[in-house]
Amino acid sequence: MATIGPETRRLARELVELRREFHARPELGFQERWSASRIAGYLRELGLDVREGVAETGVTALLEGSGPGRTLLLRADMDALPLQELTGLPFASVNDGVMHACGHDAHMAVLLVAAKVLCSMRDRFAGRIRFVFQPNEEVAGARRMIDEGRLLDDPPVDGAIALHVWSGIPSGKISIQPGPVMAAMDEFRAVIRGRGGHTGAPHKAVDPVLAAANFISAAQMIQTREVDVLSPTLVMFGAVHAGGQASNIVPEKVELAGTVRYLYEGGPDSPERPLQRFERILAGICAASGTEYDLEWIPSNPCLVNDPAMAAVVREAAVSIVGEGNIVPFICTAGEDFAEFARSVPSAFAFVGTGNAAKGTDYPQHHPKFDVDEEALPAAAELFVRSALAFLAK
Ligand SMILES: [Zn+2]
Ligand SMILES: [Zn+2]
Repeated sequence: MATIGPETRRLARELVELRREFHARPELGFQERWSASRIAGYLRELGLDVREGVAETGVTALLEGSGPGRTLLLRADMDALPLQELTGLPFASVNDGVMHACGHDAHMAVLLVAAKVLCSMRDRFAGRIRFVFQPNEEVAGARRMIDEGRLLDDPPVDGAIALHVWSGIPSGKISIQPGPVMAAMDEFRAVIRGRGGHTGAPHKAVDPVLAAANFISAAQMIQTREVDVLSPTLVMFGAVHAGGQASNIVPEKVELAGTVRYLYEGGPDSPERPLQRFERILAGICAASGTEYDLEWIPSNPCLVNDPAMAAVVREAAVSIVGEGNIVPFICTAGEDFAEFARSVPSAFAFVGTGNAAKGTDYPQHHPKFDVDEEALPAAAELFVRSALAFLAK
């Protein structure tokens, strides 16, 4: 049983109701208008100075403590997914084809309740808290929100904290650890060009299909032969297109698309350099086969790396809530755009377990039956509250 302070416990019912309101009205990235106005109204009722329309639909508010001190940023994301909900819940999505299947409905509710609790405690900390409700997490909206909202320099932020409810972690458990916790992701689009012809005379053509097949296999060497086996690196091909209906034509080109994910700083200066290795292997195979290639990278999220000191603050808060025995190790090869905050200011990102098979809340994130164990949510709000109080202790 989690240890929750009376201020948060008193709002447990409100927290669940808020989450259900958001759940019923999911909105896609940069379209979170209903959510934004609900959030802004709630924060204004707390007496906060609220700014709306940051990066289309983002909302931010600043809470002043009882004296000068550091500034802490607390962030929740707001967007839902283009997915038809199949939960059958009484508060299921009323927006056809859109669903809160990642738990961002819970994040908004949790941070609103944490804001209410922290407002009632403003005499207990110094400095300031910037609350950030960010649009479009699923498609890397953080950068735009940070830049347009001047979130990190007006006033300068000394630390940032966010959390994610996670169905793959049992309810009642929390994961918070230093170092990389969510993967960097770069999307690629490649075209391998050969010369078309008759499949009965391949020596008179240049076959891009065989080159592509070799490349798909060879690219797996990045993890197994090129990068330290302890540095997780995933190369996945999600789309491969060549030819038309005919089985006897050598096509002109093969189009490949996929993702490279890695749990470390993978830039050109890093020893791993996964993207540079990817291109070297592609270029080598094309040279060997007489084909040519175009390669385009579409960067998404950098690796989300927790600052050791910030992670320690959040870990101590988590231990005081769920106990040492319920802190579990976890890293994830999905992406998370809180990484944009974390690469600019010391940050910590925690996972709050919401998986409970008996309640049917153990479907993976992004599943049409994904649901959140609401009994785990007060601990999430309390985690924001206690981490903030510890970070801004007078
Ligand atoms: Zn998601
Ligand atoms: Zn998410």
